Amino acid sequence: MPNLRSIALAAGLLVSAAASAQSPAAPTTPPEQWTIIHCGSLLAIPGRPPLANASVIVKDQRINAVREGFVNPDQSPAPPGATVNVIDLKNRFVLPGLIDCHVHLTHQTSPDARLQTVTMSDADAALNAVVYSRKTLDAGFTSVRDLGASGDTIFAVRDAINDGRIPGPRICAAGKAISPTGGHGDKTNSFRPDVFDLPGPIQGIADGPDACRQAVRNQVKRGADCIKLTATGGVLSNIGAGLEQQFFDDELAAIIDTGHLLKKKVAAHAHGVNGINAALRAGVDSIEHGTYLDDESIRLFKEKGAYYVPTITAGKSVEEYARTPGYYIPQVMKKAQTVGPLIQEAFARAYKAGVKIAFGTDAGVFPHGDNWRELLYMADAGMKPDEIIKSATVNAADLLDWSNDVGSIEPGKYADLIAVTGDPLRDIAVLKNIDVVIKSGEIAKDARR
Ligand SMILES: [Zn+2]
Repeated sequence: MPNLRSIALAAGLLVSAAASAQSPAAPTTPPEQWTIIHCGSLLAIPGRPPLANASVIVKDQRINAVREGFVNPDQSPAPPGATVNVIDLKNRFVLPGLIDCHVHLTHQTSPDARLQTVTMSDADAALNAVVYSRKTLDAGFTSVRDLGASGDTIFAVRDAINDGRIPGPRICAAGKAISPTGGHGDKTNSFRPDVFDLPGPIQGIADGPDACRQAVRNQVKRGADCIKLTATGGVLSNIGAGLEQQFFDDELAAIIDTGHLLKKKVAAHAHGVNGINAALRAGVDSIEHGTYLDDESIRLFKEKGAYYVPTITAGKSVEEYARTPGYYIPQVMKKAQTVGPLIQEAFARAYKAGVKIAFGTDAGVFPHGDNWRELLYMADAGMKPDEIIKSATVNAADLLDWSNDVGSIEPGKYADLIAVTGDPLRDIAVLKNIDVVIKSGEIAKDARR
């Protein structure tokens, strides 16, 4: 990854450079990198009003200060001799990098998905993730939660991004989703029994509380940052087993309690109402999809303080793909047509009732980089732009347990910012086109003309 100085030189932005001559005895610690970002409008903390004409001062990867007005390098807190770069976003609206709480970076929808289950290797999946990580970052998402990938692929991709070997968002990775035999998450569904060995807890397939505990412990052992479980049937699993609860209550409790014991947040995929409510009663941290939520679900969400991650875009997308003959097998097509149209209504109901919402799309079920579609669907359902942005920043960071690092533009957090033309607080659709993405204080994308 190019360093700040080379980016600044290439962009003609370098304002003052460190003294070039160094004595042979000089210490080898790298010089401090300072950056001042001049923002025409700055939404530093979503939920509060934006500032006009403000500066974000960055030291190395993190925010040092937010100041009113356009601070010059000689007015900055940088010590004498430090490199200070200036990024001019005076005619842009700047806000925190967005966070998508539900993506699958190793995969993307295809009518060949079933064939890929037996042809695609983990190496293929990792290379997919390299491409999709870049698209996701370019779409303004500087952090994501990946809720389901096979093997150890997503952990390797996460680590490569954190090391600066490849570009991409910060990833909170669940690894393999924990599923019962034949559940949503058992990739061997619908295949002849001799095609795959029978999967067990080490492959994330668990029946009974002890196996569930082992499955969670194994994901954490391999590197999971959070845990995903499939509480109910799912649309895209190749089985006609419906969309209702599939883990028993004691299995749900075993997964969630083990995750919490190991200090990991737990997310539950859930469509059917009994599965939603059972997962909430067992103390899950978020419900994904929530298609058939009811008044009791809303009461439980509020009582437990759990987040709802709607993934409206997944519903709209599968409904659309189900219109193409042969895109899905018949059992999947039926579920897609049933569930697709309902998620936006479930979201509207939960939002109006005051349930906490964290932004999530299920990208991968539709093309990566189109995550912005969710913003428009949320607006269509009645959510105001400032609340939508908050759901994709402050709330999402809270759900990931990452509030100390991301979600707002405040001293101490990573300098993850995006810049757009126009005012997203008036028209959320301006977030479809991100002009500049800054991650850890470095320009990751610059599409300004
Ligand atoms: Zn998903």
